Order: sequence, then structure tokens, then C-alpha cells
Amino acid sequence: MLQEFDGAARILNLEPGIWKILTHPKRQITVSCPIQMDNGEIEVFTGYRVQYNITLGPAKGGIRYHPGVTLDEVTALAAWMTWKCAVAHIPFGGGKGGVICDPTKMSRREIEALTRRYIAEIVDAIGPEKDVPAPDVNTDAQIMAWVMDTYSMHVGHTSTAVVTGKPIEMGGSLGRREATGRGVMIAARESAKHLGLNIKGATVAVQGFGNVGSISAELLASQVGATIVAVTDWKGGVYNPKGLDIPKLLDYVKQHKTVDGFAGAEPLAHTDLFTLDVDILIPAALENQITIDNAPKIKAKVIVEGANGPTTPDAHKYLHEHGVFVVPDILANSSGVTTSYFEWVQDRYGYFWTEKEVNERLEAKMCEAFNAVLQTSLKYRVDMRTAAYIVAISRVATVTRMRGMYA
Ligand code: GLU
Repeated sequence: MLQEFDGAARILNLEPGIWKILTHPKRQITVSCPIQMDNGEIEVFTGYRVQYNITLGPAKGGIRYHPGVTLDEVTALAAWMTWKCAVAHIPFGGGKGGVICDPTKMSRREIEALTRRYIAEIVDAIGPEKDVPAPDVNTDAQIMAWVMDTYSMHVGHTSTAVVTGKPIEMGGSLGRREATGRGVMIAARESAKHLGLNIKGATVAVQGFGNVGSISAELLASQVGATIVAVTDWKGGVYNPKGLDIPKLLDYVKQHKTVDGFAGAEPLAHTDLFTLDVDILIPAALENQITIDNAPKIKAKVIVEGANGPTTPDAHKYLHEHGVFVVPDILANSSGVTTSYFEWVQDRYGYFWTEKEVNERLEAKMCEAFNAVLQTSLKYRVDMRTAAYIVAISRVATVTRMRGMYA
């Protein structure tokens, strides 16, 4: 994160004071969450919430449950949320939360208990005006419902705007679940338009078939006529050069929890996905997937980063120098948080939009963000990632200067 920040800050000639402010997290919270497990034993889980910057508004960002969570990682992710919200042009700062746990080895009851205890431990730090969590890796709408309920019980009234990504029935927004994938589709479509590549029939490989990967694939196939030829997930992968039947694949995954073994496609090894001769590659799994070791094998012309941080800095440099058009995470997957913003607005307003209204507003916001970054990249002759940072840092820096120093 700091490496990406420095490159853009240097081009902007950012003054040292603002530079220092923007490279320090505002607040890092560590909590211990004791839970009674189903076997009667007590386990203590460590949780974090980092509010990296709140210059533009409340901290905003997801909560992840993963065995590999660290305070450093959560801090970097909270910084990324700061830049992502600024690029998306929504009035939020950046935050992130994480709990060190393996939810695949926990019962639903244990996950509920952990969620409630974690939220109770950070309850004073969050709120609609302070810090608004959302789903991230391994957290879903039901978990957000428990977040909302726990917070509401503590403050003594129902507060829907404290968290986004909730079920529709309790203040969630239509279109939120699909939003990140929809934005990835829009980013791929706009990139193709810019590069003079016909998106209809363009071939696409997708890494990860969770919320972001599966919906990106579905919308790229159904809305703009792209051909999804390959998908890999946590277990295995499938490849069909003529195009995978995505609705059938989605049905298969609902039953089997993996794409592995899907009929009508050849099996594909994880390591082979990046080497395929495709037009568009969508990494939509975890961080650090595209490295300097596999980047030289990539044949795609466009990479749209559905995940957060899927490309290492040296791999990104290599790809850019070899003419690959990379749409950076903070732009490519920003539609998730943009629709979280719409959810927060609707909750505070108490008036809800139709799915069509949500999608139209999202389309406008995503195109505005894409164009701002593209124009900046052309103006400064830099890659799209550096351009996205230039846009984000200048927006946050401008307001930091206007607000001035408190003491
Ligand atoms: N976890 C998502 C992200 O990384 C969404 C955050 C949000 O909606 O606040 O962008």
C-alpha cells in the first residue's frame, strides 16, 4: 500500500505534512473475544478494527473472518478503503475489521456468538456517523444482521445504518449483493471500449467463484455477451474454450460448493488459469495471486482486479511495461462500497429505491470514477493504478488542507 501511495504522492508533489498524515492509520483497535464453543470449551479469538482515515466521512469497510488475518493486513486494507471511497467519490473514510478464526471449522452458532462478542467489544467505536462495517472475506448478510442487532441492543434503538450488506428485509439495498460483480463488469466493458476491443465475444478467465467472481462472470456473459472460458475456485477449476454455461455452473456450485467436477468442461489446474490465451483476466479471490513468477506467463490484454490487492507491485510493474491494461482494485471493485453508500443513504433517509434506480446510479458512479482515473492516467502518462491513487490522494489531501489542523 505504502509503495503504491508513494509513487502517486511524488507525482502530486504532496507536501511532507499531508504525506505524513495520510501514511498513518488514525486508529487501530485490538480486542479479545472469548466464546463458548459447541463442545463447552472456551476459545479466545483476536479481532481488529482499523479506522485509517475519516477526513471525508465515517470510516467504511468490511469485516473479514480468516485464519491469516493480522493487524498489518487489516491496516493496509483500511488504507485501501480510504483510497477506494475517494476514487468512488463517496463521502466516507476508510476502515477495515478482521477476526483471526477459521469459519469453515465453526458452527453457525459459534460464528454468531463470535460476531456478537466482537461487535460488543468495538461498539463505542462504530456507528452510522463513525464507522460503518460491511461484508468481506467469509462474512455475509446474516452476519451483518447480527452486527446490526448487537449494535442496536447496545444503543437502545434499531439502527440500520450502522452496517451495510444487510438482508433486504431489514434495511439492505436491492442490488448490493451483485454490486461488486456489476462494477467489475462495467470496468471490463469500459476498458474494452477504451482499447478498441469488442467486449461481445471477448474471452474471460475468472479466478475465484465467490460473490465477486461468480456475479462478474454471470453479468459479463448475460449483459455484454462476453465468453467466460475458465473459472477456478478454492478446490479446482474448469475450462471450456467455447464458453462455460454460467447459469448451469452457478446451479452446480449451489449444490457442490465448488466448480470442481462440473460436466461440460475440462478440469483446470489453479496454476494454468493465468497462462490461458484470453482477452480479460479477473482475479477475484485473495491477495498476492499475480506475482513476478506468473506475470510473464499472462497473455490477457486486460486485468480487472475484482479482489483487493491480487497483484504484487513488481508483477504490476512487469505487466504495465508489457502493455497489459490493469484496472486496479480500488477502482475495479469499488461498486461494492458505492452501493453500501446507497444502502446507508436509504437507511438514513428511510426511503428505499428500486433495483433499477440502484443500478442506474451505480452505472453513473462507476463510469464517472472510471473516466476520472482514465483521464488522469492519460494526463500524467501513468498506469491506471497510479492514476487511481492520484485521484484519491488529491481528493483526501484537498479536504485535509481545507479542514486544517485542530491543534
Ligand atoms: N468489503 C468490501 C470492500 O472491500 C465492501 C466494503 C463496504 O461495502 O463497506 O470494498
